[in-house]
Amino acid sequence: MTPLLSVPDDGPTREATRFGEHTMTYDRLATASAALAGRLAGAGRVAVWATPTPETVVAVVAALRAGVPAVPLNPKTGTRELAHIVADSEPTAVLAGAGDTLPPVLDALDRIDVDTAGEGARTTLPEPSPESPALIVYTSGTTGPPKGAILPRRAIAASLDALEDAWQWTGDDVLVHALPLFHVHGLILGVLGPLRRGGSVRHLGRFSTDGVARELSSGGTMLFGVPTMYHRLAEALDGPGADGLAKALAGARLLVSGSAALPVHDHERIAAATGRRVIERYGMTETLMNTGVRADGEPRPGTVGAPLRGVELRLVEEDGTVLPGNGTGPDTIGEIQVRGPNLFTGYLNRPDATAAALTEDGWFRTGDMATRDADGYVRIVGRKATDLIKSGGYKIGAGEIENALLDHPGVREAAVTGEPDPDLGERIVAWVVPADPAAPPSERELADHVAAQLSPHKRPRTVRYLDALPRNDLGKIMKRSLHA
Ligand code: ATP
Ligand code: MG
Repeated sequence: MTPLLSVPDDGPTREATRFGEHTMTYDRLATASAALAGRLAGAGRVAVWATPTPETVVAVVAALRAGVPAVPLNPKTGTRELAHIVADSEPTAVLAGAGDTLPPVLDALDRIDVDTAGEGARTTLPEPSPESPALIVYTSGTTGPPKGAILPRRAIAASLDALEDAWQWTGDDVLVHALPLFHVHGLILGVLGPLRRGGSVRHLGRFSTDGVARELSSGGTMLFGVPTMYHRLAEALDGPGADGLAKALAGARLLVSGSAALPVHDHERIAAATGRRVIERYGMTETLMNTGVRADGEPRPGTVGAPLRGVELRLVEEDGTVLPGNGTGPDTIGEIQVRGPNLFTGYLNRPDATAAALTEDGWFRTGDMATRDADGYVRIVGRKATDLIKSGGYKIGAGEIENALLDHPGVREAAVTGEPDPDLGERIVAWVVPADPAAPPSERELADHVAAQLSPHKRPRTVRYLDALPRNDLGKIMKRSLHA
């Protein structure tokens, strides 16, 4: 296996990261992380206070070099959840920027200050074994309390290499990103991805459409974002200053969306305004990346592309049998299972959950439901736990109803859930944020709109109006917080 991170020859001049005004060359990163790695040797496991800063990058790279598993912490996590994560992962120390104020729940840990100006001998440490845990990343907690996924170096390297293959990703790419650094998307794809091949990362700190336009028109080649960001870009493309933004997006080599489904409506609006189609990829903390649209492929709204190199994917029925044509047949929906070198080792301290997630022959049960186009492109219809509605004898995916609702001009945001119903088994409920709160479209109008676009049995029986949908830090809709 090639080492996880590259050290380019032109390290003294080549930019590794840029956070606002702060730039760090590969040489600086190598020196600062070597200095820190020397102090970490022998530590059991370290937590990283993962603010969107260069210090976080130095901390994670140092831990990877020292072969010490790192647990990135979300600085905005509430006390209870943070206490759970710390008790679960048992770090011996927490790495943080010198100016960071840490909450009292971390008081029991040794604190190690991270300094991007640190000096230390650049000795090459032995590359840890491929199966050794590199990172322990907590899942987003969308469906329950977050679980710690143990990610070996082998999985990270395999997944990043599969993306390199799919996206012709090179060291010349400059990635523009504004994602948090404590999940797979922002940290593994967004930071380790570029660093693996000598590319650079420009982090906006906070997402803004102006920031995206500025960075993409001054050297940025790729944008990684979550659907809420693409939604904001789509809105901005309708507003003042849209020309500059449209030009910047049109000039990017790749616009990539992931972490949740990109609404078809936003995909189409961006394509219409820029001539560029956003490509989607689908992954999870436990499996890293599973599918993606290739750089030279055909981005199709509502799909997440085909399995990436090395990933086996199948769609199965409730009893585990594979669907006819592996899901490419008409009207078939099944659970996605994946297998490959991209998979995690297991959940930390949760042998029960690990055993439940894996089949005997090593397939991971994703809990995501999908169908496939004839050419194998995967269409995710939603999560088994929250998005699959069994109503009147039909299995209905929440996603397509959400897309139909979002297509209505009076709807700004939409989420669809099922609720118990004596006649239907489950009843379709639409949660809608109206575009104009003073004049929301009526329940009848929205139900008719969905029935006309899809079919009558997909008509929402109840519409509930909200000011905003509950979302987590990646913009994922927290359906478990939607109650009548
Ligand atoms: P938890 O497992 O704690 O409930 P989570 O599943 O949201 O939280 P992650 O591992 O961050 O935690 O997210 C993985 C999930 O995100 C996938 O199982 C899938 O449901 C969703 N997802 C990721 N990418 C896409 C995509 N492109 N389209 C649709 N859904 C996606
Ligand atoms: Mg999950």
